Amino acid sequence: MKVAALAGGVGGAKLAAGLQAALPPGDLTVIVNTADDFDLWGLHICPDLDTVMYTLGGVANPETGWGIKNESFDALGMLTRYGEDTWFKLGDRDLATHVLRSARLRSGELLTSITAALSNSLGIPSYILPMCDEPVSTMLDTPAGKLNFQEYFVRRGQQDEVRGIELRGVEKARSTAAVLDTLAGAETIVFCPSNPVVSIGPILAVPGMREAVTSSPAPKVAVSPIIGGRALKGPADKMLASLGHEVSATGIARMYEGLVDRMVVDHADEDERNDISDLGMTVLATDAVMRDEPDRGRLAREVLGFAGSLAGR
Ligand code: GDP
Ligand code: CA
Repeated sequence: MKVAALAGGVGGAKLAAGLQAALPPGDLTVIVNTADDFDLWGLHICPDLDTVMYTLGGVANPETGWGIKNESFDALGMLTRYGEDTWFKLGDRDLATHVLRSARLRSGELLTSITAALSNSLGIPSYILPMCDEPVSTMLDTPAGKLNFQEYFVRRGQQDEVRGIELRGVEKARSTAAVLDTLAGAETIVFCPSNPVVSIGPILAVPGMREAVTSSPAPKVAVSPIIGGRALKGPADKMLASLGHEVSATGIARMYEGLVDRMVVDHADEDERNDISDLGMTVLATDAVMRDEPDRGRLAREVLGFAGSLAGR
């Protein structure tokens, strides 16, 4: 059962891990946001790709959701000693990923192929695809000026009000052949519970992507990242509000109107069932919080069952 999942970082990776556990090896392809990517000390860092890759590879740090477990930070300590501002935490093992990726990019290899090689080496039984091979940068309009995503998110701790979003470079990007083939062959498309504006938004903004999703006859299921009017983690709720969206499962459904035909919401949002149905979507209310590994698998199986792709389960 071929499943394509759209994902950002931590929230997306959790459901992707559940989907991987629920499906036969090779059946899951995760299409990942790369608009958070940035360069530091000559290294090209892809936070969402790495979070998905480390999570699916079973090496992610379960406490943070990002980075590698049992990680050391000796190289970062040395950079601090050299007087560098080490606001972005890069572990020693994590650095190996960035060093190798950057070297291969410089030699002309595409991010799609590099990501495939790295995830293959980690023994990941799924395919991980960047949303495109061209660089795209999420730039946020805030009272403090234009900030790139990592400046806003990590350096300044998500304190600034986001008044607008620019996806710099997206008009020159193209959906890759790998992404288009995946969507064309998908029997289910899952929108993971990732930030709709800065994780799923950039993926959908890549030219060719929306058309590829809408032209697929597969059931399309979104899992709401907003539960009881709040994000479980991160600034999605504040961001949605300041950008003029309704901060609720219904608000998420509205953002995906025309793209998704099924919404998974938490029991806490059961009372929004009719509002979401009015948008032409079927609703499944369940426990949408993934606290641990069994939760991820359970929610993933419910999502697949809801899409009709786990017949008899
Ligand atoms: P980031 O790129 O690391 O910020 O992560 P994502 O964009 O993939 O995910 C952020 C979103 O994940 C937030 O809006 C959270 O509310 C949502 N999220 C995190 N954990 C869960 C969960 O267990 N269940 C649901 N439904 N959403 C979650
Ligand atoms: Ca991210």
